Amino acid sequence: MAARRIVHAAGDATGAAVLAALANAVAATPSIEVREGLLVAGLVEAGGRIAGVRLADGTVLSARAVVLATGGIGGLYRSATSPRGATGRGLAMAARAGAVLRDMEFVQFHPTAIAVAGDPMPLATEALRGAGAILVDESGRRFMADVPGAELAPRDTVARAIHAEIGAGRRVYLDARASVGAAFPRRFPTVDRLCRAAGLDPVNAPIPVRPAAHYHMGGVKVDGSGRSSLAGLYAVGEVASTGLHGANRLASNSLIEGLVFARAIAEAILGDSAPSLRPRTAAIAEGRDIDAGFDLRALMAPAPG
Ligand SMILES: Cc1cc2nc3c(=O)[nH]c(=O)nc-3n(C[C@H](O)[C@H](O)[C@H](O)COP(=O)(O)OP(=O)(O)OC[C@H]3O[C@@H](n4cnc5c(N)ncnc54)[C@H](O)[C@@H]3O)c2cc1C
Repeated sequence: MAARRIVHAAGDATGAAVLAALANAVAATPSIEVREGLLVAGLVEAGGRIAGVRLADGTVLSARAVVLATGGIGGLYRSATSPRGATGRGLAMAARAGAVLRDMEFVQFHPTAIAVAGDPMPLATEALRGAGAILVDESGRRFMADVPGAELAPRDTVARAIHAEIGAGRRVYLDARASVGAAFPRRFPTVDRLCRAAGLDPVNAPIPVRPAAHYHMGGVKVDGSGRSSLAGLYAVGEVASTGLHGANRLASNSLIEGLVFARAIAEAILGDSAPSLRPRTAAIAEGRDIDAGFDLRALMAPAPG
């Protein structure tokens, strides 16, 4: 059986469209209470299961289940396409609580971040290469021409090839002039806007690019219903390791993974025979407060001396 796996919306702004649809659905559901601007500092265990979270101000929120959706770890790298704040706090919390993590070394680098100042780095979407844009060095040499798949080779292959060029002292560009040309602003409005904000004109000049940390395939090990190894703790999105991506995520698979597993988790929690909600103070009074007042950056820092 074959099925289409990619959701597409709003030209090259699919993520924003998915987010808007989700936010609207949440706003229209009275049973969902949204609390913004809170920082979760740790998980709380009670009765042998994860029973809530502790906020940075010390407040404890108890719950029948906790779903971690804290994103990836790009913020640990100097060059990344994800926000600086994506430092793996959720992973650290889960690790401190004793959850099994898997494939932590599986980090994907996007080959064509736009090589301009910016944090996170703006991205020249893969769809540009799909539309025929080619990779060239500063002399115009198409260095991917002899590689199987050329510019459409897997992300790690393209990222390594670009890294090698840069390591040899050359600059690398994505040239869409012949393939996309004047249609660039219409077909790739987001990349066009990002380029122009950086003073680049992708219609008439090649775009400078280099690899950047982009996606963490590893994470909190979960089963097909998003359950971690700890009762009461689920994980979804980039913080989770579902096994779906292997060591090299295919483009566009993370949004669909998030949508599919979010539904599976909701169904699993509904069917969970966990004790019903406890009063807010009970979890902390009876439970163990698992401190995660650090992020993965602290774990990765070199040992003193
Ligand atoms: C530029 C770019 C383009 C991409 N394009 C695509 C694409 O076309 N298709 C695709 O499938 N994927 C794409 N991806 C990947 C995909 O967007 C991400 O993997 C996905 O958005 C991750 O979603 P998430 O909900 O897991 O995490 P995020 O969207 O990162 O959300 C995590 C949230 O958790 C919050 N948080 C973290 N720690 C705490 C804490 N301790 N307390 C409270 N809140 C916390 C963060 O503030 C953040 O709001 C792209 C990624 C980037 C960067």
